[in-house]
Amino acid sequence: MIERIGSKNEVRAAVAEARREGRRIGFVPTMGALHEGHLALVRAACARTDFVAVSVFVNPTQFAPGEDFDDYPRQIDKDAELLAAEGVELLFTPTADVMYGDGPEVTVDPGHLAKRWEGEIRPGHFTGVATVVAKLLNTLRPDLAFFGEKDYQQLQIVRRMVQDLDLGVGIVGVPIVREPDGLALSSRNVRLSAADRIAGLGLSAALTAAEQALAWGETEASALEAVMREAAEKTSGDALVLDYAAIADAATLDPLARVTTEARALVAGRVGSTRLIDNCALVAPEAEVHP
Ligand code: AMP
Repeated sequence: MIERIGSKNEVRAAVAEARREGRRIGFVPTMGALHEGHLALVRAACARTDFVAVSVFVNPTQFAPGEDFDDYPRQIDKDAELLAAEGVELLFTPTADVMYGDGPEVTVDPGHLAKRWEGEIRPGHFTGVATVVAKLLNTLRPDLAFFGEKDYQQLQIVRRMVQDLDLGVGIVGVPIVREPDGLALSSRNVRLSAADRIAGLGLSAALTAAEQALAWGETEASALEAVMREAAEKTSGDALVLDYAAIADAATLDPLARVTTEARALVAGRVGSTRLIDNCALVAPEAEVHP
């Protein structure tokens, strides 16, 4: 049975009771409109903990004016059913009023990791994300919290925040779930027309091209980025407007000149009015790391 709770005090009480029973608490924060990507996080949580809580909260503070907060897909009853079927016991669905009251006046500065990529294109986004994640972690106090690699920059920021603010929660990253054709699952995909959806494939095509070029020995970031742009253009033409196609250090997210350590290929763009992001790990072939 899944219990749907809107109040922080009731959530704290439900988690405290599970803890009294000696159960390890797993937590998956989401904005709802759940798909198989979210469910992969839920399944990872069910595998590693004994009591799983999920939040569904479309957080207004991480949307800039003019972004898609009002149009963001919402389907809470269906979400509750999907979660119940996975064995989730607690669904936290606060309103913005419950979450923030008259705040937030005090927020989390996500620092250097938030400066580039999504942070540059969406000013204030990661302050909103870090603040709401800190609040949710403090409310639920889980043993483990699960985040998708789909939002790789977010995952790194959350890891760093937990470390720097001593939040005492284990952060688990979960690999990206994709459609069979490569498109990364996203709640926003429901808004894509058939043509948009095909154009969206330019993102995963760019990542695959970078992986292939690296496997063939190309380690220069500028060359890999050119390969990514070409592949996106070839797949999607003008229908995909790239915001960035970049090779970054997997930990610091600083741009790399060359892939020598573990790197991440990051790509983002717009298809019509819908923004899509994607990324993948890039590991240099051994021979190229130590020539
Ligand atoms: P959202 O509801 O978009 O805020 O996402 C909630 C969590 O699900 C975040 O940790 C996301 O990174 C994760 N997530 C979303 N899409 C995917 C996906 N395709 N694969 C893996 N994780 C995902």
